Amino acid sequence: MTNTPPANGATLRATDAQHHLHPFTDTASLNAKGARVITKAKGVYLWDSEGERLIDGMSGLWCVNMGYGRQELVDAANRQMEALPYYNTFFQTTNEPAVHLAQAIAEITPGDLNHVFFAGSGSEAIDTVIRMVRHYWTLNGQPDRKILIARDNAYHGSTIAGASLGGMSGMHKQAAPLLPDIHRISQPYWYGEGRDMSEHDFGIACARELEDKILELGPDNVAAFIGEPVQGAGGVIVPPASYWPEIQRICNKYGILLASDEVICGFGRTGSWFGCETLGFQPDIISMAKGLSSGYLPISAVAVGERIASTLINKCGDFNHGFTYSGHPVAAAVALENIRLLRDERVIEYVANTIGPYFQSRVRERLGDHPLCGHIEGVGLLAGIALVKDKASGTLFESGVDVGTVCRDHCFNNGLVMRACGSRMVFCPPLVISRAEVDEMVEKARACFDLTYEDVMGETLS
Ligand code: PMP
Repeated sequence: MTNTPPANGATLRATDAQHHLHPFTDTASLNAKGARVITKAKGVYLWDSEGERLIDGMSGLWCVNMGYGRQELVDAANRQMEALPYYNTFFQTTNEPAVHLAQAIAEITPGDLNHVFFAGSGSEAIDTVIRMVRHYWTLNGQPDRKILIARDNAYHGSTIAGASLGGMSGMHKQAAPLLPDIHRISQPYWYGEGRDMSEHDFGIACARELEDKILELGPDNVAAFIGEPVQGAGGVIVPPASYWPEIQRICNKYGILLASDEVICGFGRTGSWFGCETLGFQPDIISMAKGLSSGYLPISAVAVGERIASTLINKCGDFNHGFTYSGHPVAAAVALENIRLLRDERVIEYVANTIGPYFQSRVRERLGDHPLCGHIEGVGLLAGIALVKDKASGTLFESGVDVGTVCRDHCFNNGLVMRACGSRMVFCPPLVISRAEVDEMVEKARACFDLTYEDVMGETLS
């Protein structure tokens, strides 16, 4: 080990550029300007190495639901580190936090989802879903049911399986050859793809694509349909209310398993414990991560209902799947404490009844009339804003104008973290945000929309 002197921002940036390859990043262009060094955080605020404060409109990466700096979560980790920092759950052993966390997840998930498999990340949870649903059918004498149906512009993680299941073309190009037996249908993005119909009819039409796809592939070849209740990384796309109930009806009709990827929507984000409750459907299997521990430690889980659980328990023998960190005691202890905080502080109710409605109305009041804003959609503490060149017609900018990135950079340089998903700007703030903090966040966004307008339109706003 070299004797490393205390670092400042500039030296950290230089060393970062020398040795660190960042995820989803053009390393050459990042290295040319240097990464921003985030040093501390409290509540909804972040600070960088230069002492600049940012309001975090993205909860880190859609995960810090309880906000930063919760001592209870730090203490839970400390206590568990001292008692038992690690032990596996493969070979006839378990540990106290994993037991209690499985029980807590069984209590908060809807319906009969009473059995839980642990993993380390959302992507691992998705791999687990694929393994489980395919093996479920093999164990039930239908080994040909291998196909998973997902949607365009879905995000389901970055392992080969997650990238294959998701509908992100940029990932497909780099992950090829993709996993076989995955098919996709359209996303239910009314503003972008269905404005010639009513929202209701568009929702039904998108769901009916599932039925057409099932019939095209043969129902006896399809294992499951998977979707995010509200697409997150796709740009916060809230489907029409008619969509999910129709998807549920079709899955029931053909006996196909319904998987809800709740990696973003879980743990209060939409105003219910899980997004499927807000959007009105009952899945057979749920993947969850992120908000499970408010991002304080990496942990994910897959919850299954009786249908899958009884097959796995009674017909499978050894299930040849798992991860070193499945049921990690420290991560599980933090997740358990996080669920206790969400419950005891009535955070889900706060999102559903107080701060969610306030946030949704403030975003619309302050950004809805902006000339760049084509459309706003959102639920709970999620919102997506389509940036357009022409407000009246909803015409998008031509492909050479990266309006989302311009806007994101203005936000980042002016004390606000928002994310750009293509030309959609996205909010996903910590669930504990106050009204005053919502106001601050939305005012900052308005100012940055103005700066963006001036850049991309080449004219100042009067
Ligand atoms: N599914 C969804 C819906 C997600 O949003 C994400 C991450 N953004 C994942 C899966 C993958 O999670 P991870 O990055 O923890 O692997």
